[in-house]
Amino acid sequence: MTAIAMPLPEEVATARDGIVAFAEAEVIPRHAANRDLFDDPRVLYRTDGRFSDDLLALIREVRTASARAGFYQMCVPESLGGGGLGHLAYYTAWQALFHRCGPQNWLMLYALAHWAFGPSRLLTQVTEQARERILKGLMAGTESMCFGLTEPNAGSDASMIKTRATKQGDGWRINGRKIWTSNAPVADYCIVFAVTDAERAAAKKGGISAFLVPTNAAGFTVQRVIKLFGHIGGDEAELALEDVYVEPWQVVGKLDEGFGAALYGVSLGRIYNSARAVGYGRWALELALDYAKTRETFGARIADYQGVTFPLAESATELHAAHLMGLNAATLLDRGDAAIKELSMAKAYSVQVGYRAVDRAMQTHGAMGLTNELGLTEAWHSLRIVNIADGTNEILNRTIAQRLLKGDVEV
Ligand SMILES: Cc1cc2nc3c(=O)[nH]c(=O)nc-3n(C[C@H](O)[C@H](O)[C@H](O)COP(=O)(O)OP(=O)(O)OC[C@H]3O[C@@H](n4cnc5c(N)ncnc54)[C@H](O)[C@@H]3O)c2cc1C
Repeated sequence: MTAIAMPLPEEVATARDGIVAFAEAEVIPRHAANRDLFDDPRVLYRTDGRFSDDLLALIREVRTASARAGFYQMCVPESLGGGGLGHLAYYTAWQALFHRCGPQNWLMLYALAHWAFGPSRLLTQVTEQARERILKGLMAGTESMCFGLTEPNAGSDASMIKTRATKQGDGWRINGRKIWTSNAPVADYCIVFAVTDAERAAAKKGGISAFLVPTNAAGFTVQRVIKLFGHIGGDEAELALEDVYVEPWQVVGKLDEGFGAALYGVSLGRIYNSARAVGYGRWALELALDYAKTRETFGARIADYQGVTFPLAESATELHAAHLMGLNAATLLDRGDAAIKELSMAKAYSVQVGYRAVDRAMQTHGAMGLTNELGLTEAWHSLRIVNIADGTNEILNRTIAQRLLKGDVEV
């Protein structure tokens, strides 16, 4: 049974079903077998907030098993040795993983190469020498990377970054700070965005470049792990770069034109987060429906009360619309359209309705919805966070309005 009339290309549906079967075989059982670890934050994280060695070992197991099975790298371009599937497959696979696994089986985050943790199609822009050094480990799932754009004083307006790469000999010395860099505490490489031409950067006409920096380079340090609400550790970090030397082989894309790579990375993040929101929303909706059919009050199932079911009907309607928007935006990207407006709409709408669907599911469960046992609180945290990451709702509205005012009024 499907609610979507437009058929998915066969290879996309096959990839989706394959990765869900992989998660059922390799992810969900690992969570069940390691409940002591996953249920106890004191063993999940080190005292400095980083993932514990036991957790890192499980992440590596999932990544490498998925890479061996051909799922991990399936959306990486063939020119990099990947499966060559596009944005629609990426959206569809993530949506299905979040839907099937829910927030409690979160090792699934490592079953498919994440756009920022690599390998991703961003790597088509690295030099041949960089490919030789990094691709093998990234494709095998033994190494990972991170995406260092945001700084303490440059978030929504990323063009305000102050990290500088100053020419020295054939290379550059990078100095600056980054914040909120996901996966940075454990990554092997970081794509660092830095100003290489201050005048052009000030005029917002280029002047920003991207560099591939090994995280063990002299002068590169993880200053602290950022702990988001509800967690005693985390995956986001603040970074310091002090005189980090980079050579020409480390330039990603064209010098002074790295901002394009930054925007493309953010677009991939928006696809990922649209899928996350719809997947989690669907998972929560189904949990709420199951519960409503069994829970009784005042001599009847709560499913018999419209006060309970109408909010769920609204969630279903909203999630259906968001799902279609995500599929549409991903298809446009596959056609070579930047889909700036449609992707902004899909991300903004999906995270809002996904969050609302989880919140309504919590309400349906009464007090049970507030426990850690069902995972609803974890999904709620997660979707609250993606209202900020990869473009806040306000910035997405700003982008949509700008496109409309430029004449892009098709909806
Ligand atoms: C969990 C998480 C993971 C992240 N991972 C990464 C990562 O891997 N790499 C990376 O580089 N960054 C990452 N980020 C950073 C993220 O991209 C920024 O947090 C985001 O762009 C917003 O920037 P800010 O937090 O500095 O908010 P600000 O830009 O300071 O905005 C503050 C508030 O003002 C509003 N606002 C700003 N400008 C306008 C405007 N013109 N009109 C209306 N409202 C406006 C915003 O919507 C927001 O509500 C991550 C963030 C989070 C939360």
